Amino acid sequence: MHILVVEDEVRLAGLIIQYLGESGHTAEARHDGPSGLDAARDPRVDAVIMDVMLPGMNGVEACRILRREANDVPIVLLTARSAVKERVAGLDAGADDYLVKPFAMEELSARLRAVARRRPAFSTRLEVGDLVLDPDEQRAWRAGAELDLSRREFAVLKILMENPGWVVSRTRLLEEAWDGEADLNSNSVDVHISKLRAKIDKPFGRNSITTLRGTGYRLETQI
Ligand code: CA
Repeated sequence: MHILVVEDEVRLAGLIIQYLGESGHTAEARHDGPSGLDAARDPRVDAVIMDVMLPGMNGVEACRILRREANDVPIVLLTARSAVKERVAGLDAGADDYLVKPFAMEELSARLRAVARRRPAFSTRLEVGDLVLDPDEQRAWRAGAELDLSRREFAVLKILMENPGWVVSRTRLLEEAWDGEADLNSNSVDVHISKLRAKIDKPFGRNSITTLRGTGYRLETQI
């Protein structure tokens, strides 16, 4: 995971970053509220560890703003032992969990694992009927069964799933899934569509990709 640490105690932030690095994560630090909020908006951030008492803007407020922006990045707040009100406000503002200072690094690690489990990267997942595709993990499923797709088949299915119910032209598929590397007159698209059908439709008794002669293909939404 790539983790953002927002903590104005520079030494503590450094220790957390070092520990996360040793645990196989990558991490970066910000030391005030506004720049922490900004950094948390980066889609590459998988989880945020955020102190509540921060210069510029407190962690609860930053958390509330992120949730208002429909950002569902997992957030663990760091709070002072006595600050019960703070913890309640943090959870109300949409934080996933909190940790009372001082804490053991192992505990931080366990909280991170727990919030990451609760919130898999659903925001980037595509779902059409019982087809699910996860661009981050490069995995796809139909009716809960994992599909064994080649890189190109995966790319074609992704484009179709981004446009459910709409015709996607062969030209567009060639441009996006082949990065324009294939000959426009080649039958690569047709070949890959039939391979896809053999994997995502046939075993499940479906017929979800419609061919529109001379135009392109459409992924049916009622499937
Ligand atoms: Ca602080």
